[in-house]
Amino acid sequence: MSETNSMRLVVVGAEGRMGRMLVRAVAEAEGCTLAAAIEREGASALGHDAGTLAGLPPLGVAVTDDPLAAFAAADGVLDFTAPAATVHFAELAAQARIVHVIGTTGLSEDDLAKLKAASYHARIVRSGNMSLGVNLMAALVRKVAATLGAEFDIEISEMHHRMKVDAPSGTALLLGEAAAEGRGVDLPSVRVSTRDGHTGARKPGDIGFATLRGGSVVGDHSVIFAGAGETLTISHHAADRGLFATGAVKAALWAQPKPPGLYSMADVLDL
Ligand code: NAP
Repeated sequence: MSETNSMRLVVVGAEGRMGRMLVRAVAEAEGCTLAAAIEREGASALGHDAGTLAGLPPLGVAVTDDPLAAFAAADGVLDFTAPAATVHFAELAAQARIVHVIGTTGLSEDDLAKLKAASYHARIVRSGNMSLGVNLMAALVRKVAATLGAEFDIEISEMHHRMKVDAPSGTALLLGEAAAEGRGVDLPSVRVSTRDGHTGARKPGDIGFATLRGGSVVGDHSVIFAGAGETLTISHHAADRGLFATGAVKAALWAQPKPPGLYSMADVLDL
């Protein structure tokens, strides 16, 4: 921690949709300050003030392309970028022994193994969704899936804005994991992410995902438990991506005194 006892945070991908929200959230939160803002080499934002990019008055922090120097002088990093970048930042955060909050989605099994290795040195908080509502929803889904049993079919639908590059969303997968846990099965063994053409009847125990993309939708998710004669639906609607950013700042502050390890938002929110 810095002399003023304020957690020094770096925002990577500072010009992105979430990056600009994270800069705002750090500027507005108690107990932390913006130590650096990073974009990739050659990005148009380099040299510009991170506050101005986020629609705030200047914060006196110019965007750079040097994460190594930034992490060495910081206590934590907020990372909503892309899988390859996040794996690289995890190595740097582990070297610097700092907190790494990861909101990036679309990570492969191989990427996740690298994050696990990095978490022996860094305090990593990773979640496909940083909001209280969705993490609470996941806890409910786990319970409902355990209670209703396999005679209820589980389907998960999600809709996001037209620029989203991965599917199903990290949140849909988080909810799918919760449903699978409730049933005592592994999600990969029951996951059905595409249906097209003559698919045949639904296999008992499958967990299905449906993906919609369009407009500026921040994130809508529903988990449907469909039985014979009744359907139970649990839904969440995110109206403002600022809530993911405030959740990420909360996660960083929570992780600061913790030992190295891989944590989730459920740990942060004590769910
Ligand atoms: P975005 O607008 O494309 O922002 C990503 C930013 O990261 C861009 O500015 C991008 O720069 C930058 N970036 C990529 N690689 C980089 C590198 N190597 N070094 C430095 N900067 C790099 O996307 P977004 O909508 O903000 O979403 C970002 C991620 O967060 C996605 O995976 C999304 O699914 C996830 N997300 C998670 C949550 C949650 O609660 N967990 C909520 C919302 C979004 P370029 O444009 O130059 O590539």
